[in-house]
Amino acid sequence: MAAQRIDGKAIAQDVRAQVRRDVAAWVEQGHEPPGLATVLVGDDPASAVYVGGKQKASAEVGIAGFDHRLAQDTSHAEVEALLRELAGDPRVSGILLQLPTPPQVDGAALTALIPPGKDVDGLTPVSAGLLAQGRPGLRSCTPSGVMEVLRRHDVALEGAEAVVVGRSDLVGRPLSALLLAANATVTVCHSRTRDLGAVCRRADVLVAAVGRARMIQGDWVKEGATVIDVGINRTDDGIVGDVDFEPAAERAGLITPVPGGIGPMTIAMLLRNTLLAAQAAAAEPVGAAWS
Ligand code: NAP
Repeated sequence: MAAQRIDGKAIAQDVRAQVRRDVAAWVEQGHEPPGLATVLVGDDPASAVYVGGKQKASAEVGIAGFDHRLAQDTSHAEVEALLRELAGDPRVSGILLQLPTPPQVDGAALTALIPPGKDVDGLTPVSAGLLAQGRPGLRSCTPSGVMEVLRRHDVALEGAEAVVVGRSDLVGRPLSALLLAANATVTVCHSRTRDLGAVCRRADVLVAAVGRARMIQGDWVKEGATVIDVGINRTDDGIVGDVDFEPAAERAGLITPVPGGIGPMTIAMLLRNTLLAAQAAAAEPVGAAWS
């Protein structure tokens, strides 16, 4: 059996179109447009491309952009002052501090200063704690993108065996919490997991978020399983995922390609989070718009 390929690009476009319609309706109701503030410290070219992409995508859906670019030698205190200003600015619904920051700026400590209601990246300790307790809050973007893809394909999660390979704060850990909240039976694997292949073979839903090219082998995939590949690895053959795609696709029922799978979902979910943050800020009590 050859797996059905998930078209993440099409799903992401659909989410973005929906956000554009929802933003227009929100403004039509007399609200200010949602605003996304991005803060980039330094001149790392890759980070500049990421931030530029986020601002461009925001503008396309009607989200107001506040694009702050600070010099490489900006002090920690100066970045902190800007973040505090953005935290108090009612035009700013969401704040995103692009990581990594230069060495004199403690990116993790500054991320923690972003108020939970404006944490559209979902990466602050408060947002992570709310997620861990199954309480409403903004969810991190790539894991939300995975859940959206699963939802769009009607992948049954209740009672299903879900195996997540990777336990980073960015992907594996929040995704395992979201799968648990969807009533999957979740196993989280990492670099110390014994017999990874045997654990993966149990999975109805197998997610790879490791960052090692093609490490998930085809015969680790259970027949008919859903395989989600979050990995993005630059190799001599171009960009490949963490899953050895061709043999895995022979056994899977549903599979994401790389590129064109989960990658495009992250920005789409950031846009949705920014709208949700604006709606939650306007609602009483705060947080009512989150689900
Ligand atoms: P990370 O912080 O480096 O975490 C990697 C995880 O994989 C760690 O938990 C690590 O275990 C585990 N791991 C490493 N080697 C392993 C092995 N041999 N067997 C089992 N587990 C192993 O990476 P990340 O930020 O989560 O990113 C993972 C991948 O997703 C990367 O390729 C990244 O580029 C990609 N990514 C894509 C998007 C997107 O599509 N938009 C967004 C974010 C990340 P330990 O905890 O034990 O070290």
